[in-house]
Amino acid sequence: MKPIYFDNNATTPVAPEVLDAMLPYLKEYYGNPSSMHTFGGQLHKKVEEARARVAELIGADPEEIIFTSCGTESDNTAIAGAVEVSGGKRHIITTRVEHPAVMNFAKHLSRKGYRSTFLPVDSLGRLDMKAFADALDDDTAIVSVMYANNETGVIFPVAEIGSVLRERGIIFHSDAVQAAGKILLNVKELPVDMLSLSGHKIHAPKGIGALYVRKGTRFYPYVIGGHQERGRRAGTENVASIMGLGKACELAKAHIENESAYLSALRDRLENALVKNCPDSRINGDTENRLPNTTNISFEYVEGEAILLRLDEHGICASSGSACSSGSLEPSHVLRAMGVPFTLIHGSIRFSLSRYNTEAEVDKVIELMPALIKDLRALSPFGKKI
Ligand code: PLP
Repeated sequence: MKPIYFDNNATTPVAPEVLDAMLPYLKEYYGNPSSMHTFGGQLHKKVEEARARVAELIGADPEEIIFTSCGTESDNTAIAGAVEVSGGKRHIITTRVEHPAVMNFAKHLSRKGYRSTFLPVDSLGRLDMKAFADALDDDTAIVSVMYANNETGVIFPVAEIGSVLRERGIIFHSDAVQAAGKILLNVKELPVDMLSLSGHKIHAPKGIGALYVRKGTRFYPYVIGGHQERGRRAGTENVASIMGLGKACELAKAHIENESAYLSALRDRLENALVKNCPDSRINGDTENRLPNTTNISFEYVEGEAILLRLDEHGICASSGSACSSGSLEPSHVLRAMGVPFTLIHGSIRFSLSRYNTEAEVDKVIELMPALIKDLRALSPFGKKI
């Protein structure tokens, strides 16, 4: 059975055009772009073409793009590099709602004698700008604030943060893994020094990412070895996936405005119907400032896992902000940081859409959910009779 897939913030299907762009590089063009011979060397030009497409998605120059193995590596590289070049500064500022790729790396550095500040957010998931201003000090090596949150879709005031940091000469990194390709980004107008991207969130394969590093930003490589990526990231290039990422960025760039309008209309249709037809439900996050494809809804008095299992029986894929399904026993750190009560965190479900979702798929969820929730509440020892 073909799944009805509403878990696109976890990963996306590879676009057919992306697969077509990759296949020749897994079959006949298997050479190493660093080789002296023509067979391998010709791939260097192809990698550079892909780099230009990635750059174009975010308004960067091609030489500002470094290919990495994933969003996590891009995040780790940005923070580790900034700390390395900071001349002994030991303070890292980030937020309480980052992806573990940033949050756990900051915690890791804290265990090594660095100091990390995790900025709070309000009940809508918006950054506390006063806490941000208060946290800055002369020891701050880097500020890393995500562009958009993976669980709620809430978009952060990256331009505002960046202009404060630029004045103070502090390196600014933003994890744009969920934002790139979904909303327009232009680093020419955005005061960020580094930006992380990941292929598998935008219909390229898993295991390819990119890090934008603004020209002139002090940088130190994280993966050390050969001279690839102009000495900024060692390791023989993942040529096929790089070609795939290039194609995915080209597609995203070409369709971003139409797609964003399509996705937000579809998302709103789903969200409005669920909140209207399922009593005791509410949206988590700032609905005024969100990615177009994401909704996070809490259904009180019911377990998120139970909802997911029931949806799964109908071939519907989503994810929950509570326990095991997210691979951890902890309730969502994002919803906790927002002060969402535990009963609501446990009943939270994220639906994240992509260009491949249809109105018919949304309508199937709309049709199923009210009875499903009512049923689960009747079964649950915590369930409220409705
Ligand atoms: N940052 C954010 C906001 C994400 O959502 C993810 C993946 O879920 C990552 C980083 C990690 O990206 P990757 O899976 O490519 O390592």
